[in-house]
Amino acid sequence: MKRDRILLCLAHMSGNEMKYIQEAFDTNWVVPLGPNVNAFEKDLEHFVGEGKQVVALSAGTAAIHLALVALGVGKGDEVVCQSFTFAASSNPVVYQGATPVFVDSEPGTWNMDPNLLEDAIKQRIAATGKKPKAIIPVYLYGMPAYIDEIMEIANRYEIPVLEDAAEGFGSRYRGRVVGTFGEYGVMSFNGNKMITTSGGGALICPSDEAKKRIMYFATQAREPFPYYHHIHIGFNYRMSNICAGIGRGQMTIADEHIAHHIHVKDLYVKGFADVEGITVHVAPEDYMEPNYWLNTIVVEPELTGGVDYEQLRVALDAANVETRPLWKPMHCQPVYKDAPALVNGVSEHLFERGLCLPSGPCVSDDDVDYIVSAVKQIIKK
Ligand SMILES: *Cc1c(COP(=O)(O)O)cnc(C)c1O
Repeated sequence: MKRDRILLCLAHMSGNEMKYIQEAFDTNWVVPLGPNVNAFEKDLEHFVGEGKQVVALSAGTAAIHLALVALGVGKGDEVVCQSFTFAASSNPVVYQGATPVFVDSEPGTWNMDPNLLEDAIKQRIAATGKKPKAIIPVYLYGMPAYIDEIMEIANRYEIPVLEDAAEGFGSRYRGRVVGTFGEYGVMSFNGNKMITTSGGGALICPSDEAKKRIMYFATQAREPFPYYHHIHIGFNYRMSNICAGIGRGQMTIADEHIAHHIHVKDLYVKGFADVEGITVHVAPEDYMEPNYWLNTIVVEPELTGGVDYEQLRVALDAANVETRPLWKPMHCQPVYKDAPALVNGVSEHLFERGLCLPSGPCVSDDDVDYIVSAVKQIIKK
């Protein structure tokens, strides 16, 4: 019998999504505002807690962009960004005509190294005479960052923090949901994320006033006149009421999704426990509770008898298992070759050794057994 291909992270519906979409059609709310958008925002506010306000948007990338607009980032400014991430974390800095300054990761969380962050701030002040305008740490693969340390430095230099929690939906740090520590926090509901709206995102805001300002920029910066009157450049970034219907349905099983990702992580940890040269990436501190959005392994060819991550990827692909190399660091991307970067070797080392493994709600215990056995066979050969 031929097995179905095991994919990295597939969208998974609760069965409640169509009810909310049907409601939208029945009431003719087929527009980028409406009851589903409002109710989805309430669900998200309840989920993140901390008295935060949430604005639903067309993408996580749009959320990062609007936060930068609200923070006043513009031409000639610099923004400190985590280098080890997806390009959507830093691209909006360039949309604003500003320059990203890339900072490498520390090896425990794979996220922004707080010591290098402080070096970067000092270096940029010395080089340009002014402070970076914002700091964008990332929760890569759902792993919390050393956010207390990052916030301490950011507060000391009075630089606002924009947390890219696109991959960290529901991850917790000392019990608190990530994305609620900085001035703004970003969520993504793209098709492959922890929950989906097909495509979509949201911005976690500190206050009602901040939320109103984000909504204003997300809806073409319209002034309160009977005709269209503009004093700022705006954007069309609001979430569709249809997409928000999917989001409301997804919120009914968000906790189950997270529990399943953690369950799959436990199976990988157990399965690879006796495999030399394969290490599952887990939280380095007990006060960090990742959502394990994508489970990742580091492959050390010195210990696997010479099998490296690329050979493993190709062999697993032949065995009908989708895996993917880790994010290629931004400071190694041709498009960012001229951006300043503070590098310690951690992200480049991981990029040359790491793989993402299938992790979504569609991955069964049997699938994990199959993947672990396949890896063991590949290494033994
Ligand atoms: C997915 C992702 C984004 C962008 O979210 P979209 O909803 O796809 O625009 C931003 N940052 C990171 C780290 C991501 O993984």
